[in-house]
Amino acid sequence: MANQLTDFDTKMIKRSIELATKNVAKGGEPFGAVLTCGEDVLTEAVNEAYIHDDPTAHAEMQALRQAGKTLRQPHEGITMYASGKPCGMCMAAMLQVGIDRVVYGADEELGAAYGWGTQPLYDKLKKDLGKQGIEVVNCPDASSKVPFDAYKEKHSA
Ligand SMILES: [Zn+2]
Repeated sequence: MANQLTDFDTKMIKRSIELATKNVAKGGEPFGAVLTCGEDVLTEAVNEAYIHDDPTAHAEMQALRQAGKTLRQPHEGITMYASGKPCGMCMAAMLQVGIDRVVYGADEELGAAYGWGTQPLYDKLKKDLGKQGIEVVNCPDASSKVPFDAYKEKHSA
């Protein structure tokens, strides 16, 4: 059942596409997302990278930010509908907050044909740290544990 599409799925994907198209008219990139819990819409979002020069403001990220309070509480049955295949950053964020299901519209082939392919990032993420195209260096310091201890002390009753 998990991989089967419902009429509600189709309706939400159409809505995400509509949001994406409207976003282009406003000067944004062609992506929209709808976050739902069951068949309740929690929030709708679009790619807003153009508004604040925030390259992380993908539609899915904006939806997660808008639903932050809800997602911090125990939840289940949360689905992210995205007009296009989520990129690696958005997938990581959705894994981090425990989204249960992702449904997307435009697939890799369609996105890549327009220059919006996500596979290059997924390919980099499969590589080990330091081999993904960014220099990554561990700099051990004895004081690194101080903030952890401070948090542990503040939150232990
Ligand atoms: Zn993304």
